[in-house]
Amino acid sequence: MKFCPKCGGLMIPAKQENKSVLKCTRCGHVEEVSAETAREYRLVERSPAEERTITTSVVSKAKWKPPKTSEEWEQEREEYREILQELLQQELEGLEE
Ligand SMILES: [Zn+2]
Repeated sequence: MKFCPKCGGLMIPAKQENKSVLKCTRCGHVEEVSAETAREYRLVERSPAEERTITTSVVSKAKWKPPKTSEEWEQEREEYREILQELLQQELEGLEE
């Protein structure tokens, strides 16, 4: 999968004047690719899971956000851990009473 260098949107294969291009589903940014890359994309497109992903992205492109960075994942996991610890703490305190 390739993501737009401008907005981070998902790039999907498109045809433009006999050239193979990838087009951003969010901002419409077009990037020319080699025939080889386009062929790889066509292979990817055949997989049902990927097709679903692309369709979903196109349908909900207004809400679609760029993929999370590893830092964001880490932060989310950290927050989740804190919530769990709080719940556990509350439970322990409740037992003491
Ligand atoms: Zn874009």
